[in-house]
Amino acid sequence: MDFQAEDAINWFSKMTNKVVINKQYLTALDTQIGDGDHGDNIAKGFTAVSKLLHHAKKEDITTTAQVFRRSAMVLLMTVSGASGILYATAFLRMASVFEKKNRIDHSAFTEAISEAVEGIKERGNVEYGEKTLLDVWIDLVELFQSSEEFPQASLIEQSARRAMNKTKTSIAMKGKAALYEEHSLGHIDPGAASTYYFFASLAEVCEEKQNGRIC
Ligand code: ADP
Ligand code: MG
Repeated sequence: MDFQAEDAINWFSKMTNKVVINKQYLTALDTQIGDGDHGDNIAKGFTAVSKLLHHAKKEDITTTAQVFRRSAMVLLMTVSGASGILYATAFLRMASVFEKKNRIDHSAFTEAISEAVEGIKERGNVEYGEKTLLDVWIDLVELFQSSEEFPQASLIEQSARRAMNKTKTSIAMKGKAALYEEHSLGHIDPGAASTYYFFASLAEVCEEKQNGRIC
């Protein structure tokens, strides 16, 4: 079954719930190795996204590409931190791929998240293992590339969780956390944590959609 605009809206809505519920936790992570605003930034941004998507029909948002493109614009307008620009870059790259597809199957979806990774790398001047949200995106792209169809929901969630936890073992090389140098060891990267919620939300959408097997 293909991925539809309503799935994307459901995905963003679940993400909003998770980051609002875990706002203090995300901010606590960013207090340890940053400036203590990640929870506020991301909750504010996705709350605004969900507000827009709540009126999707009235706003003439009917395709998956539009969901991603318009959500990116909202994040750019509402989030002041680096994470806002990076999430928006990822979503704009995904929208560009979706715009070219008649249907979003496993292959189109994998292409879109691979493009998101390229966008984050360029925008953040960042590579794998530098303890950022990119680490979670890359592990998820690898999971999607290694399977022939949408991976099982539980695998999506576990992969994202593992990638987030793995950031504890690396030293931050980018963003404000880099100032902490080796003191950043042992801490989960806040952006990796919010990205975990993002893919855990996707896992829930997939699970609801088709018995935990494929989207
Ligand atoms: P800010 O760092 O501007 O306060 P946030 O606190 O909202 O913004 O987001 C911090 C997160 O953004 C980090 O935990 C990290 O995952 C991500 N991040 C910051 N800079 C970069 C970068 N150059 N490349 C990739 N990710 C980055
Ligand atoms: Mg911050």
